[in-house]
Amino acid sequence: MAQKTEEEILRNSMPEDDPNGNSNFVRGEESSARWGPQHAGAKELASQYTAGKRFQEILCLVLAIGLMVFNFYHLCVNFQSENWYYILGAALLGILTADFMSGLVHWGADTWGSVDLPIFGKAFIRPFREHHIDPTSITRHDFIETNGDNFAVTLFGLASIAYRFVTYTPEEIQATYNWQCYVFLLAIFVSVTNQCHKWSHTYFGLPVYITVLQDLHIILPRQHHRIHHVSPHDTYYCITTGWLNYPLEKINFWPICENIIETVTGYKPRSDDMKWAKKTQ
Ligand SMILES: [Zn+2]
Ligand SMILES: [Zn+2]
Repeated sequence: MAQKTEEEILRNSMPEDDPNGNSNFVRGEESSARWGPQHAGAKELASQYTAGKRFQEILCLVLAIGLMVFNFYHLCVNFQSENWYYILGAALLGILTADFMSGLVHWGADTWGSVDLPIFGKAFIRPFREHHIDPTSITRHDFIETNGDNFAVTLFGLASIAYRFVTYTPEEIQATYNWQCYVFLLAIFVSVTNQCHKWSHTYFGLPVYITVLQDLHIILPRQHHRIHHVSPHDTYYCITTGWLNYPLEKINFWPICENIIETVTGYKPRSDDMKWAKKTQ
């Protein structure tokens, strides 16, 4: 698939860096109700954020942070300084894995499933649908709503490391230290992913060190992530650093996955996403 042109990006995305709508040249009824908090679908989806969902997010955050502190302590205690370059390798591999996982989960939730699925749909698909029709809603979400689900994803990996630190002998811990380091750093990068994503939608008031990290493309840059927010939202799914977006686009990774799934199951990609985008009341 060819890269999107500047013109396509402008015509099909929400001008969130342009609150006065100066570049919103697609005027008329359709464009005025197309994106944003006034969209009927966005209002309905926002109203489905329940107290139960918030409790789940708080619980996952507390458990994950507790496990992070516990594992970090044990990694420090067992650290051997001659090992530093393995840790650097584990960090780099962790960033790449987190970026790929962010793409895979984001693509899966954007492309398949439905808000109508029992429990799972409202809890985990709903935020993805809301984000497409009201992209700046993420900038109004607090720390818990922004990060709760990403911390939840890390729980299994963090618990498995903690279990090893408790049950392994010192020799076994040394023998598996690099792997534990990799899993721990992967969990850290996964947990900060949606915060990086939120910053990529924040066009005003960011601390300078964040915009420097974005400009150096160490974390997800704003103009880079904007390519995903071009209707029909079918590319650039990686949102930790976005490093893998270009190579995955080049090898047609997402369309190939979609073709395989559509052939096997008969489901059309993004049909639920389209349904919400078209909701007018
Ligand atoms: Zn998306
Ligand atoms: Zn986004």
